[in-house]
Amino acid sequence: MDFALSEEQQMMIETARKVGEAFGPDYWRAKDADKAFPVECWQAVCDSGLAGAMLPEDLGGAGLGMVEVALIIEELCAAGAGATLAQVFMLNPIFGGVSVAKYGTDQMKADWLPKLCTGEMQFCMALTEPDAGTNSLELRTTVVPDGDGWQLNGQKIWITGVPQSHKMLVVTRSTPIDQAPKKTHGISLFMIDTDREGVSHAAIDKLGTNTLPSSQVFFDNVRIEADELIGDLDKGWHQLLDVLNTERIVTTAGLIGAGRLAIRLGVDYAKERRVFGDRPIGSYQSLQFPLAQHWAELEAAKLLNLKAASFFDNGLPFGSESNAAKLIASQATSAVAEQSMQVMGGMGFSKEMHVERLWRDARLFRFAPVSEEMILNYIAMANLGLPRSY
Ligand SMILES: Cc1cc2nc3c(=O)[nH]c(=O)nc-3n(C[C@H](O)[C@H](O)[C@H](O)COP(=O)(O)OP(=O)(O)OC[C@H]3O[C@@H](n4cnc5c(N)ncnc54)[C@H](O)[C@@H]3O)c2cc1C
Repeated sequence: MDFALSEEQQMMIETARKVGEAFGPDYWRAKDADKAFPVECWQAVCDSGLAGAMLPEDLGGAGLGMVEVALIIEELCAAGAGATLAQVFMLNPIFGGVSVAKYGTDQMKADWLPKLCTGEMQFCMALTEPDAGTNSLELRTTVVPDGDGWQLNGQKIWITGVPQSHKMLVVTRSTPIDQAPKKTHGISLFMIDTDREGVSHAAIDKLGTNTLPSSQVFFDNVRIEADELIGDLDKGWHQLLDVLNTERIVTTAGLIGAGRLAIRLGVDYAKERRVFGDRPIGSYQSLQFPLAQHWAELEAAKLLNLKAASFFDNGLPFGSESNAAKLIASQATSAVAEQSMQVMGGMGFSKEMHVERLWRDARLFRFAPVSEEMILNYIAMANLGLPRSY
């Protein structure tokens, strides 16, 4: 087991740090206030070759692995973005990149992946539904055959990045659940144009991650062409899991970066602020210990996440590791953002100090993209061999 980073990995981290620092906390505070997509930052990520890090070289990518992607995202997020920039990676290299690179046709790969790498094309994914929620297999968005293609009807909720995306990965039922031999059968994935006739969307007013709108999406007799199917008809569930499990790795990397940033902001403030005499408040153990505790948790989550990424790169099962890492990282990052706010007293509540944004944004990841309860359910069954409780 070698924990040393290669020269290439160090160079990627250095590139990510430079790009991240060019778009520091002030940039993100302004984007958050304007509820604006970080166009300039994402373009710089693409221009420096980081967006396509794990995509094949002949399609515009760098041909690296998920370990490198995790290291890049952590560094970018630690420089000022917090966890939100990791979401842009989820939308593009994961929802667009993993689905198309692994299960798309050669034509899809050639048409879309080079443009994903350059930033000319953006993606989103529509899985969650108002009635099904966490119980994704009960989703009701349906396709029925229509000539050589399909017709799509249904409704989704909380779909992130819809307005700026060109393509939407839609998760549908192609065989009704009561006619499927088992619940996991009859799910299909399609990559459709976001602005296609019959697709409409409305943004949801929400607490945080303001740079990326999340929307209700409605499909009303939407035409799907024969060549828009991703993977195999009715067998999309297992293909979707590849997308969702890599999404966990990216989420965790962003959370670790956000946690590092929250610690840095809290520590910098605590070293300067004096309230009783000459001693800085950072000399009090009551402020030091929680920050140190969360630093330890974040380091543990990072190691587990890199293990998951390395397993992914080597074709090994990585679901337990990626889920457990995301569980620890989301709790630790939420807690450390909260603690840095506590360290700053009243100033932590001001927009000026940035931790309130990190606190708002980190909170999302305790229940999305997968909730901590569902991760614990998974570990209880897959790792402890306990019966399903629900
Ligand atoms: C800002 C934001 C962005 C999002 N972006 C996207 C996106 O781009 N694409 C997309 O498809 N989805 C997206 N989502 C949806 C997100 O993945 C879901 O919100 C999340 O999976 C939880 O589902 P739910 O909200 O329906 O909660 P519910 O399923 O209603 O669950 C509510 C609570 O009950 C708990 N619970 C449910 N079942 C069990 C059980 N069996 N045992 C124990 N506890 C249980 C859950 O853990 C949770 O705490 C986003 C959500 C948000 C808020």
